[in-house]
Amino acid sequence: MAIAENIKTILSEIPSNVTLVAISKTKPLEAITEAYNSGHRIFGENKVQELTTKYEQLPKDIEWHLVGHLQTNKVKYIAPFVSLIHSVDSLSLLKEIDKQGKKNNRIIRCLLQVYIASEETKFGLSEDELNELAYSEAFRSLTNVSVCGLMGMATFTDNTNQIRKEFKSLYLIFQRLKATWYANNPEFKEISMGMSSDYRIAIEEGSTMVRIGSDIFGERNYKL
Ligand SMILES: *Cc1c(COP(=O)(O)O)cnc(C)c1O
Repeated sequence: MAIAENIKTILSEIPSNVTLVAISKTKPLEAITEAYNSGHRIFGENKVQELTTKYEQLPKDIEWHLVGHLQTNKVKYIAPFVSLIHSVDSLSLLKEIDKQGKKNNRIIRCLLQVYIASEETKFGLSEDELNELAYSEAFRSLTNVSVCGLMGMATFTDNTNQIRKEFKSLYLIFQRLKATWYANNPEFKEISMGMSSDYRIAIEEGSTMVRIGSDIFGERNYKL
């Protein structure tokens, strides 16, 4: 009951143009089924193995997102079904996604992950790397990936000013790309930012997609 209630509460709080991705990593099938039965269809995982296992076992009208770091050699496992990859951080990864998209005869939707935090541990492209990638010839020749926007994670901190500043920076980077390279591409429209602890700030700063795990499913227990 709690899971369905939590989703309902969050959906009532966020604007209707913001997509809620329920992050179900480490959670059992029953928890996802409870969310599913309440009507929710968009779920995200951060590990390829867990994502494919859950995809196989759950209803096929679920929209599965990958939000965690993706290794090139694992793209093939998710390419047939993944709905959105939030965590693309290199041209070589994008090329592999393109290749697997061709093999599966589909266009795979992706977000480019931008490094906005002040921590060393977060994956993602710097703005310079992002520009280099976005304007490269190799990037333009990809046919089976669709870059739908950007994703970023703020620093894990209680300092809301800092979090807000980082989200603002992602929004500005998005606006710059939107105004230039993606000016004629209506598909480039998503800003994936905001998790349980900071999604309210993220929405105020222009998020179109929030990735919420523990506020829906409860705390994760990694010792299981
Ligand atoms: C786990 C995870 C989330 C959700 O985190 P919560 O704090 O549980 O909401 C969001 N984004 C990514 C990339 C994650 O790995």
